[in-house]
Amino acid sequence: MLGKDYEAQDCSLARALEVIGERWTLLILRDAFFGVRRFNDFHVHLDIPKAVLSDRLSGLVEDGILEREPDPEHAGRHLYELTAAGRDLWPALHALLVWGDRHRAPNSRVFKHASCGTPLDDHGHCPTCGMTPAPQDIVTEPHRGRRALRHDPVATVLRAPHRLLEPIET
Ligand SMILES: [Zn+2]
Repeated sequence: MLGKDYEAQDCSLARALEVIGERWTLLILRDAFFGVRRFNDFHVHLDIPKAVLSDRLSGLVEDGILEREPDPEHAGRHLYELTAAGRDLWPALHALLVWGDRHRAPNSRVFKHASCGTPLDDHGHCPTCGMTPAPQDIVTEPHRGRRALRHDPVATVLRAPHRLLEPIET
């Protein structure tokens, strides 16, 4: 099996990729920014094999990107939430979304500054307010006129405008 470490690389990019460079990890983090907190919700929204999801979530907890807490509503289950270090990945995630939109396929969602409703520019900046909102001050909604491809409970919640990091209840 291919290891996930780049021991011989003396570069902080290698250190970052050891944490987020595995398949599915960035999509799990995207969903965490959308407010997904439960194993089953990640599972239905990502169609990811359960063993892989479990492995990625544990790795992200170990690396201090997600925090795992007991789920008060379901005994024996857990809630996963981004730590401060995890929330610091927002600009990197947003930059990749912008790159994908420019070079691969149009983004299916828009991201707006919550307090003024202005769509963020490619740098995650609000041109109206002249500042870069933190994830909890950003609202995401589907691009107008975009036909919904997914019909799972998480996708259904995300058809309405939703503030990042606000828990999704399915
Ligand atoms: Zn603004």
